[in-house]
Amino acid sequence: MQCLECGKKEAKYDGLCEDCFLKKTKFTELPQYIDLTICPHCHAVKFGGHWEHVPLEDAVYMMVDRNLKFMHEYDSYRLRVEHGEIEGEFHVLATVDITYKDIHTRELHEVLFDLKYESCPRCNRYYGNYFEAILQLRGLREYEVSEVIEFLRERVEYYAQKNENLFITKSVERREGWDFYLSDKREARKISREIARKYGATVKESPQIAGRKDGQDIYRVTYSVRLPAYRTGDVVNVEGTYYLIEGINQNFIKGKDILSGKSKLIDSKRHRIYMLVERKNIKKMLVIYQDGENVQLLSEENRVIDARTPWHLEPGKYVNAIVVDGTVYVLP
Ligand SMILES: [Zn+2]
Ligand SMILES: [Zn+2]
Repeated sequence: MQCLECGKKEAKYDGLCEDCFLKKTKFTELPQYIDLTICPHCHAVKFGGHWEHVPLEDAVYMMVDRNLKFMHEYDSYRLRVEHGEIEGEFHVLATVDITYKDIHTRELHEVLFDLKYESCPRCNRYYGNYFEAILQLRGLREYEVSEVIEFLRERVEYYAQKNENLFITKSVERREGWDFYLSDKREARKISREIARKYGATVKESPQIAGRKDGQDIYRVTYSVRLPAYRTGDVVNVEGTYYLIEGINQNFIKGKDILSGKSKLIDSKRHRIYMLVERKNIKKMLVIYQDGENVQLLSEENRVIDARTPWHLEPGKYVNAIVVDGTVYVLP
């Protein structure tokens, strides 16, 4: 069969030869103008009802692709877009390579993007100082403040990867510790639990009604994370026995009895644990000589001290010791 149009070549596509078919056929169409809504703060892009954090190139590509209309059947296509600003206007050149049966053809479209700026919900919250929870850090020792805060920020960043509505609205240093205002109370709860687990702290949760919306009470929650009075390396008093703390978790401390040298797990909820000597106040002493249980030590202030100890010590070596009510205890 010959081409219906030119009558010369063989009809291959819709009764036409390739040349006549391509002359008459437009595979794709694009509108002349496309609206693109961008958040001026974070450059998120609005697609239909939702916002996405994608680079502008990707957003332009996606908008062109979703506006591309096919006017004729095809086997496959490849789209490329380039964009540039001409006299303050946002021009996009779209190149579509189409494959249909044996035909490979290219169509070009020029589109003017109409950029609109609108603050996204996340930024509305962020710039509105929105918060749902206060995470309080209490009982921190001076030297560990930055470490605990660093851990908190790292956890917020981790959860924010999946929840873009999570951020720290503000942080405030108070006499009792630090307050972090967080935008999402469920994530705040998870993070408070994680801090507690890591530092053997307790969490007190107190909800407050912050207002009403659509006939429902809106709650804000304060998570007060309190670290215990003791840390690994401190010496504590548990019912008259002194323990050097070897490890802490949320429910237990592992302590070494400083007289027997035996390690023991102590349930910190069921026993009262009193701080005896902080790690930084443990003294280094030089062993002068030992005779049975009697030992002579030299303090950092060069005082000779007589003490009793169950441990075998080596003269000339340093040992750790604490002084409680005038009595010297050499630590195991
Ligand atoms: Zn023809
Ligand atoms: Zn935004």
